Amino acid sequence: MVIGKPLLSAEEIQHKVKELADRITMDYKNKNLLAVGILKGAFMFFSDLVRHIRVPMSIDFIIASSYVKTDTTGEVKVYYDLRADVRDRDVLLVEDIVDTGITLNFIRERVLAKGPASLKVCALLDKKDRRVVDIPIDYRGFIIPNEYVVGYGLDYDDQYRNLPYISIFKKSV
Ligand code: 5GP
Repeated sequence: MVIGKPLLSAEEIQHKVKELADRITMDYKNKNLLAVGILKGAFMFFSDLVRHIRVPMSIDFIIASSYVKTDTTGEVKVYYDLRADVRDRDVLLVEDIVDTGITLNFIRERVLAKGPASLKVCALLDKKDRRVVDIPIDYRGFIIPNEYVVGYGLDYDDQYRNLPYISIFKKSV
């Protein structure tokens, strides 16, 4: 198994995170922001993002997955659900990567059914070419090629999440 040289360096990521947080800060003045991190993959992005957001807010999490190793099963399982009451809240879903769009679409529909005041999506990475379900991404970090990536929260078999940068992962050379 091989981790290539960084596709996105720690510096590039941090610069983008700050940029996204600044836009969110502008858009959520006088709103009732509830940021929801989709775990586990978004844990690093989420914690970096929220520390740059400068409006009053609360946070919650959803733990969901549709992936086994490097493949999507197409079936989303929720292991931990939102605890916060989303009525009258301006919910911002924060995701590490949108690939087929199945996971985020499932979670989006689930949260929308609870009747939030508004619902937007922030995703650090967008693997656009793989999209199966068309999903609106209001705050997008980077569009990346159709490769399996690890680092900055993203795993292969629960490894590599701690890397501060993002690299393409190859099973063999
Ligand atoms: P989707 O449902 O959009 O196909 O997949 C979204 C989820 O699949 C992400 O939250 C992430 O957990 C996982 N995923 C998709 N592509 C990648 C990738 O390139 N690397 C890693 N580590 N996870 C991915």
